[in-house]
Amino acid sequence: MKKILGALFVAILITIQSFSVHAQSNAKRSVTEIAKDVYRLQNNFHYSLVVLTGEGAVVVDPINSDAALWIRSEVKKLTDKPISHLIYSHSHGDHASGGAILAAGAEVLAQANAPDTIDGVKPTIRFDDYHEFSAGDHTFELTWLGPGHGSDLIAVVIRPSNVAFITDVAAPKRLPWRNMGGANVDDWISQIKKIESLDFEIFAPAHGNVGVKADATDVRIYMEELKGQVLAGLKAGKSVDTLKQEITMDEYKDWIQYANWLPLNIEGNASYLQASGQVK
Ligand SMILES: [Zn+2]
Repeated sequence: MKKILGALFVAILITIQSFSVHAQSNAKRSVTEIAKDVYRLQNNFHYSLVVLTGEGAVVVDPINSDAALWIRSEVKKLTDKPISHLIYSHSHGDHASGGAILAAGAEVLAQANAPDTIDGVKPTIRFDDYHEFSAGDHTFELTWLGPGHGSDLIAVVIRPSNVAFITDVAAPKRLPWRNMGGANVDDWISQIKKIESLDFEIFAPAHGNVGVKADATDVRIYMEELKGQVLAGLKAGKSVDTLKQEITMDEYKDWIQYANWLPLNIEGNASYLQASGQVK
């Protein structure tokens, strides 16, 4: 009996061990230098940004605790300097969890509308419309994008590489997320216009592939076209189901999530247009 119990115990241990190894290696991860000293760190469908400066590493978005542990170990491989700054692109949990793992001894920056603490981390610097700081030979320009996707979303532009890190509101050749979470579509479009007003070259999104500034304009045009078609359809008395069959947005067929998210984008536009009284 003792032997059996012992064997059972070992078997359980092995199971626990292999499970934790499996859980760790489960996430799809990669580190890519997209400009000099500017790295994009992938954790499944989410990306963080790490910039190596003479003063330390500047990290944008911890993603979650597991990812943050990995980000911390990757930063150690890239530099012997500490993490000097942790910037939150916004406070949504899928990008902003686990910050405590990266925040020790660092300046923590978030837009003023972010909650007092973000997953237990208290920002040390809050700003309204704009905040700029330098670290080593890099400058970081943090611009609030206004309400729309969340209320505390910022763009981070890095000099001299002219990289913009942009989360959720637009990504190169990728449809907006599902039904856009019930957001105000006009505000969302304004957020993209704000991005278009910024001076940058490389568009590094928190989801999807790296692109260029013109990709932001393409997403804004997609949103305006789609909103126009949904509005016209609703005004003509068509149902949302009919619109999902009729609106094809063919020129965007090669965009990421076209087939899955176009019907949901249509739903999101329809509920927004109805809720905001633009159509009865
Ligand atoms: Zn978000």
